[in-house]
Amino acid sequence: MMTKQERKRERTLIVQITTRLLAGEDAQVIADDLGLQTADDSRCARYTYDGVAILLPGAVADDGNAEVEYPEADTLREAAQSYVDDGDRGDPDDDEPSTSWVDVWAWRVGLVLVPVEGDEDKRDVDTVEIDRERYTIKTDPDEPECADGCEHDWRSPLSVVGGIAENPGVWGHGGGVVMTEVCRHCGCYRVTDTWAQRMDTGEQGLRSTKYREADDESLAWVARKDAEMLDESSPYSLTARDGRISTAIEVIRNANGDEDEDAMTRELETLRAALPAGWTADWTGSYSGDEADVEIIRG
Ligand SMILES: [Zn+2]
Repeated sequence: MMTKQERKRERTLIVQITTRLLAGEDAQVIADDLGLQTADDSRCARYTYDGVAILLPGAVADDGNAEVEYPEADTLREAAQSYVDDGDRGDPDDDEPSTSWVDVWAWRVGLVLVPVEGDEDKRDVDTVEIDRERYTIKTDPDEPECADGCEHDWRSPLSVVGGIAENPGVWGHGGGVVMTEVCRHCGCYRVTDTWAQRMDTGEQGLRSTKYREADDESLAWVARKDAEMLDESSPYSLTARDGRISTAIEVIRNANGDEDEDAMTRELETLRAALPAGWTADWTGSYSGDEADVEIIRG
């Protein structure tokens, strides 16, 4: 989008060019003078003209809704990309946004001296579209955040993503497949469709991505994998149930038969120290027989 300052600069430039063209100065001389490029009518699909058009900096983009100027754009594709990036795409309430495609036209604006219709002796300055080209801009949904300190590690455990053992989580779709993967750390899902279709044009065979929130099944699997991993370093054996990792520490008693809190704290500290970085343990406050329940958590 153009800032006020950029718009002012552009207006000044247009006035300068127009005045000098109307005064009869050679377009190439004006362009060289102002450090601008020129184009002949071979690069203008909708118009023919004599001589050269002086190109304004940047480019214009439009998907059919509105023309937007990008004076800083170095290329037409960059202007088309900015147009999509700046726009309001998709439904913010859609909790499973998928890949989208938008066709955007982009072109450069040229100023050219043309004869006034009906009065061949008079000249006027007109704008023309140079190098007008259509770009299809693909936008993938944002990846959700992973668990604290982790980056997504996409896996295909048969027990969570289903399908067949040789190819878990993969189903045929048209000429391609739909693949479901789950993150080893946070349990969220990534669904990739290699035969996606554009709703607006009907084009098929595209690759789309969407993410689905973790559910009880994936979180339970993540907890089981975490428990397996943590069990190697833990002095107590760990269990994973309902997405929760826990262990039990036998209550140590003093001479009076009361719980020895200092001794219990030392036990907990020993467990904490044994866990890998990013993990800790804490009492849950519940007891089972003569054992205190301890939950293993990220932190
Ligand atoms: Zn993740």
